[in-house]
Amino acid sequence: MRNFASIPAMRRQAQAWRTEGLTIALVPTMGALHEGHAALIRTARRQADKVVASIFVNPIQFGPDEDFVRYPRDMKTDRHLCRAWGVDAVFAPAARAMYANDHSVFVEETALRRTLCGRTRPGHFRGVATVVLKLFNIVAPHTAVFGQKDFQQVAVVQRLVRDLNVPVAIVAVPTVREKDGLAISSRNARLTSEQRRIAPCLWAALQAARRLCRAKPRSSAAVGKTIRKIIRAQGAYSAVEYIETVCPRTLHPVQTVKQGTLIALAVQIGDVRLIDNLVV
Ligand code: AMP
Repeated sequence: MRNFASIPAMRRQAQAWRTEGLTIALVPTMGALHEGHAALIRTARRQADKVVASIFVNPIQFGPDEDFVRYPRDMKTDRHLCRAWGVDAVFAPAARAMYANDHSVFVEETALRRTLCGRTRPGHFRGVATVVLKLFNIVAPHTAVFGQKDFQQVAVVQRLVRDLNVPVAIVAVPTVREKDGLAISSRNARLTSEQRRIAPCLWAALQAARRLCRAKPRSSAAVGKTIRKIIRAQGAYSAVEYIETVCPRTLHPVQTVKQGTLIALAVQIGDVRLIDNLVV
């Protein structure tokens, strides 16, 4: 497995593979790798001859009060895992290599960001879209693989490649969960044992909402109430940031939740922010 921190060296490797007629799949990550990332890498290996995993905690997608500093980092373990999972190259640039002091060009998606995490994390998707386009320009992948756990992120990246004619195919992978249903996330490591015990209530609540809407369509308010009740029952640890019911294509809010509606939520458990979603 090759390791690259330098942008020109990564680009040279990618171009060499392309010259040989090999295809490249990119899996962008922020490290602290887990089974969710492993699923993305497995998918990437099926998609292309060479797999590049990028590991970069992107400073510009974190707000000033968010967990950029506290975000878990473990480069040594990440490299071991990437090797074990059959990654061909890890691209882990320094922030100063990615962003010049006077960096002043950003990619802004202006519609999909109006709901869900975009509402509570202003600037987040601008940071995501900017770093994703930069990674595409450096790694020149044929395909890039993302997780549906970050449903809105996938939607924004799909819109980015469509609207800016970026020649990269976007593949989305279903959310990988712990046995008790909790969506696997690098942030789970920051939960205390008590918080970890109650965290599966997010998935339990989403499933209860799905059951509720299976028999007949329900109002968004009824769905929100069902979810809130299940999460509140877990005690004062958690604060609901949002529960939204939207069209999965446009991310526009819908009043009636029926088959095909996306239910997404963000909940703060202690000081750890967790997100999850499902399509009814
Ligand atoms: P992150 O390192 O958290 O930025 O995530 C990197 C990629 O892995 C993103 O495309 C995420 O959506 C995806 N991902 C994170 N957790 C999971 C999971 N539990 N299941 C599937 N994909 C995931």
